[in-house]
Amino acid sequence: MLLKLTILPGDGIGPEVTEQAVLVIQAVAERFEHQLELQHQLIGGAALAAVNDPLPPETIQACLSSSAVLLGAVGSPAFDHNPGHLRPEAGLLRIRRELGAYANLRPAVFFSALEDCSPLRAEVVRGTDIMIVRELLGGAYFGQPRSIEGNPGSRVAVNTMRYGESEIERIARVAFDLAEKRKKRVLSVDKANVLECSRLWREVVTRIGKDYPEVKLAHQYVDSAAMLLVQRPADFDVVLTENMFGDILSDQAGGVVGSLGLLASASVGGPVGLYEPVHGSAPDIAGKGIANPLGAILSVAMMLRHSLQLQREAACVESAVNHVLQHGARTADLAGKTHAAISTTEMGSRVVNAVKLTAAQALQAEKSLR
Ligand code: NAD
Repeated sequence: MLLKLTILPGDGIGPEVTEQAVLVIQAVAERFEHQLELQHQLIGGAALAAVNDPLPPETIQACLSSSAVLLGAVGSPAFDHNPGHLRPEAGLLRIRRELGAYANLRPAVFFSALEDCSPLRAEVVRGTDIMIVRELLGGAYFGQPRSIEGNPGSRVAVNTMRYGESEIERIARVAFDLAEKRKKRVLSVDKANVLECSRLWREVVTRIGKDYPEVKLAHQYVDSAAMLLVQRPADFDVVLTENMFGDILSDQAGGVVGSLGLLASASVGGPVGLYEPVHGSAPDIAGKGIANPLGAILSVAMMLRHSLQLQREAACVESAVNHVLQHGARTADLAGKTHAAISTTEMGSRVVNAVKLTAAQALQAEKSLR
């Protein structure tokens, strides 16, 4: 199969983790005999520095003509004082919109090898396997009007949270479809006691839920969901929520399972899927070679599964990550006091070796079945 991918390394640790993720894609392509066509493009601060546009037209064109897009992260303190449309994050919001990627899937899975990494007790976090389904193109991040107006000292800032019924319907269906293939439970998270958007959200989700009689639907206010996420994370299955609540809860879920650096995401719904680790550009550790590349690598597994329908290859990458963690590989964010920390590149090359091993085993098993 021809895998035509656009790579957007972005800023900070983005290029560091993306480089390792690309090595993993190359190993998968080589072992499973796929043809790989990679194109690197600019986004975020890197694009601002080069052409003063956080999402140049060539980047959009390349993404739209690919089978899938892999993004590192965007964001740089160098652009903190730029107007909104000339900040790196504007490039990220625009590429999601250009690709029509309205459904952001953010799994938070606890790896048994990492019991010592979670701030929670092992018996609380064990068994955690959450799929956060976050609406990605609506709510306060996109709503108009938005502005800061007035004179210094008396300025007023406005953002608008806005949701239409059709936007809620389509994301609800993504969550219910996923739940049907999992434990058949959807928790819809809102703030219906305060926000009109949430009241509409709850009404529409309840209506769509009737089309999925096998899935048990429950509703929870976001504040109480945040508390339950640390008290009983293993009780969650699919969490369905709007843009900003999903942004916050998924970082929290990262803390619960051990590190934000482990979390992958898929943004789908449009013609081309966008895959990226949940974390940002981490300027505090950028350039030190210590970032955890596993979120980016697991995003490759999601890409193989959701955009390229290569289930066997996706499973191979996931088992390779599991394998290296079981064998004690830890970047600084996971090392704690019990393990020596390895670098970003060392973690990447251990996963590549494990991919080769796991692929050989998978291919051997297939041969012996024939
Ligand atoms: P962040 O996710 O970049 O970092 C939060 C903390 O987690 C930091 O201490 C960082 O060192 C650590 N961390 C993050 N990823 C890690 C990894 N792979 N390995 C080890 N440690 C890791 O969030 P932030 O500090 O709030 O934001 C920094 C910049 O990133 C900002 O400009 C923000 O707008 C941007 N951002 C971008 C995205 C994205 O591109 N999708 C997401 C969130 C934030």
